[in-house]
Amino acid sequence: MEKIVLLGATGSVGASTLDVIRSYPDRFELVGVSGYRNFSRLASIIKEFHPGTVCLMEENAVFSAQYPGCNFLHGEKGMCELASHPDADCTIVAVAGMAGLYPTLSAIKSGKKVLTANKESIVSAGKLVMNELRAHGGELIPLDSEHNAIFNMVHKYGEQNIKNIVLTASGGPFLKKEISDAITVQDVLDHPIWDMGNIITVNSATMMNKGFEVIEAHHLFGMDYEMIRVMIHPQSLVHGMAELRDGSHLLFTSPSDMRYPISLALHYPDIPENRFPLLDLMKEPLAFSEPDMGKFPLLKTAYDAGKEGGGLPCALNAANEIAVQAFLDGKIAFPSISKAIMRTLEHFHSSEPRGPEEVMEIDRAARESAEKEMSPFLK
Ligand code: MG
Repeated sequence: MEKIVLLGATGSVGASTLDVIRSYPDRFELVGVSGYRNFSRLASIIKEFHPGTVCLMEENAVFSAQYPGCNFLHGEKGMCELASHPDADCTIVAVAGMAGLYPTLSAIKSGKKVLTANKESIVSAGKLVMNELRAHGGELIPLDSEHNAIFNMVHKYGEQNIKNIVLTASGGPFLKKEISDAITVQDVLDHPIWDMGNIITVNSATMMNKGFEVIEAHHLFGMDYEMIRVMIHPQSLVHGMAELRDGSHLLFTSPSDMRYPISLALHYPDIPENRFPLLDLMKEPLAFSEPDMGKFPLLKTAYDAGKEGGGLPCALNAANEIAVQAFLDGKIAFPSISKAIMRTLEHFHSSEPRGPEEVMEIDRAARESAEKEMSPFLK
């Protein structure tokens, strides 16, 4: 049995992960979970999986008294302790936001197999994370469908044989619609394929999400930005492509169902027998096209920030979160998101953060700056 720690068990990636563990009870055992504030969800997870250790955001005597068999931890320190749990073979980081950075580093330092869905830690601190990984010789497997696809192809065919990679993008709700000030929050939240949280759904509409994924791919696979392409693929069935040295292309396809990449990553390097609904490739024709960088300026901004490196990707992530939240709160128009971000980035530079504390400081400063730079765009 492989022993699993799942950070962010009550979120959407957490739910898919639990379903994979539930589907392979002969192989995986959940030994620890963390949850944010969804106590009813957490209670049902504890009742079903009986994890020995549970980490909460804050101490909660009333909740923990109900589960005398569990060892309770709390806060960031508790998350880091849980991430490096001595019994665990594998730690899954499914928490959202910068809260994932320290636990990711903690899991890597303990030499575990680490599965990550935490974009922010790779975008904002990619160099630090990868340096720690090299120093401790563990494994970091991405759960995001695109990176998971590339990961599998890189490991099967060898880095040296891959000339370029392609990350596919659904194109979001505005692929065929005009982008204007009239776009409402509801227009954005009607995402055609994936069912995700609100911020990531807006990031899909602006293509910022794909921009972050480009930066992640650069770090995860050690590839120059020139080797990483983005293609629009509205069906979201091909998750990634690799062009081999000889000019042939590999296409990695599976249903738009997070259980697929999670199951592959959990079983890695084995290939599990399928226990989920299969892909029907004949349902609709697969289409691919070039993204319009003029219409989705944040995709280009991500390439530029990634190439400059240092603190810029971290500032980009932070500024984006502030601007997107302002849009969701009805304070700024949709096209102002990118404008506010670009103004914020002008205050940041490419010197490399030397540790996680410096990353957190850039994050904080960029959030503060984004609040100020948004003021000309307030409705
Ligand atoms: Mg993705």
